Amino acid sequence: MRAGSQARLAAEWRRRTRENIKGEIDVTEDRLKEMRTELDTINSELLQLLSKRADVVERIGHLKHARGVSMYDPEREKEQLEKLVEENPGPFPDAAIRHLFKQIFQASLGLEDQQRKLLVSRARTVADTVVTVRGVEIGGGKPVIVAGPCSVETPEQMEKVGQLLNAQGITFMRGGAFKPRTSPYDFQGLGEPGLRMLKQTAQQFGFVTISEIMNPADVEMALQYIDVIQVGARNMQNFDLLKAVGSTRVPVLLKRGLSATIEELIYAAEYIASKGNEKIILCERGIRTYEKATRNTLDISAVPILKQETHLPVLVDVTHSTGRKDIMIPVAKAALAVGADGVMVEVHPEPSVALSDSKQQMNFAEFTAFMDALRAGQFIASAQPVNS
Ligand code: PEP
Ligand code: MN
Repeated sequence: MRAGSQARLAAEWRRRTRENIKGEIDVTEDRLKEMRTELDTINSELLQLLSKRADVVERIGHLKHARGVSMYDPEREKEQLEKLVEENPGPFPDAAIRHLFKQIFQASLGLEDQQRKLLVSRARTVADTVVTVRGVEIGGGKPVIVAGPCSVETPEQMEKVGQLLNAQGITFMRGGAFKPRTSPYDFQGLGEPGLRMLKQTAQQFGFVTISEIMNPADVEMALQYIDVIQVGARNMQNFDLLKAVGSTRVPVLLKRGLSATIEELIYAAEYIASKGNEKIILCERGIRTYEKATRNTLDISAVPILKQETHLPVLVDVTHSTGRKDIMIPVAKAALAVGADGVMVEVHPEPSVALSDSKQQMNFAEFTAFMDALRAGQFIASAQPVNS
């Protein structure tokens, strides 16, 4: 609105208000009631108009969606706001009109988001997704333990861990061959030969294997060796990788990013699902906070939230989240108690000489005690060795 006409309108409004106040100084209770009713009617009318507007927005949304165009159009929003300000009869200042209508525009966009329910959302699919890998279920009600070394190092190391897992009745073996290390000078993993070693051990004991892949170009190669592709925390928003694993039909273990919100994790999972692969297992592995007592801060509440918001199985990595062997038992119990579908842990025959994460990997005695404690508390079932 131009400054001159705005001032005139404001003056007129003040004059009218003064007159109204004067005229209504003796207003009776009845008159007040009448005016309140009038307000209620206006509110209802506004509400009707908002719904009518939402309906039109929705139809525009459908058309735009069909054309593959984004719903949000900043130019169009600007145009609408300018027109409204031009027509503003007062008494609201232009800034207030802009603010009010921006809220309305935003709510309309939110409406579209809500209606386009994410593929991974519970709102879209009510039943739990059970990911079955070589006949073994994750998310089917029986918690799983995924265990193994941080990195695949040697065939001997893998065989020793294999024997331990087998004796504990564990089916899922992990072992990194492509390691996302903070320093480029640290052990980067054995690459494909590491995956081959993992596969050999798995064949010997009948394990299902999980290993991290970092590069979309390695996905196809990895499928020759592993059963579940891990997308690590540092790659949670590597969108090309998410699309690549989404284009396979192989189960994906998606770890939460170091500083990712729950919403970002859900959207990362949606990237995978949007490519047609809904065999996704989410993994809470701790997030970065100011707390230094643990390597990361395990966001325990993420577990029930993810279970509520999505239909996907959720694991908790107790090793990377805590980085402390002395609290792994209670933390694993807590994870299973809040509804995790399983727990991931690192175990190594000789952690002190491990090529990565040597401080946090359990030795065999610690791992056995860990498993005993979970069984004693009935957090996991007593199991028979896979191959006896
Ligand atoms: C891992 O599981 O080997 C790993 C590197 O974990 P994260 O990506 O959660 O740090
Ligand atoms: Mn590790």
